[in-house]
Amino acid sequence: MRIARGRAGIPSEERSATFTGRVWGDPVLAAQEDVTVNAVFFEPGARTHWHSHKFGQVLYVMHGEGWLQTRAGEGGPITAGDVAHIGPGEEHWHGAARRGYLLHLAISMGGHEWLEPVSDEEYARAVEGGS
Ligand code: MN
Repeated sequence: MRIARGRAGIPSEERSATFTGRVWGDPVLAAQEDVTVNAVFFEPGARTHWHSHKFGQVLYVMHGEGWLQTRAGEGGPITAGDVAHIGPGEEHWHGAARRGYLLHLAISMGGHEWLEPVSDEEYARAVEGGS
């Protein structure tokens, strides 16, 4: 067994290519088989691009508040303690609330397919209500 005592001294990795806003992702578990486990921190207003996971994804919200939205129009606010299950191939995005940060653990199964950015209009429509 092995206990890793926090991440002191290990620089967080800022991610940018497939996100809007500033986002940091730290591996919790070295990638193995088809599973990756990352702690992901989104500044207020930051979000992923639209994307899907070949075998799905589980998000465990550790702190803060955010939003999860599927292409089919499902989703809603997510907050600390929530666990979201995203199905294989289900197109979606996730990110922080406009005025609060979001920290979630992302357990991703299979590869990603990254799609287009979530526009400011799509983000506003989701987090501020409306259709
Ligand atoms: Mn996802």
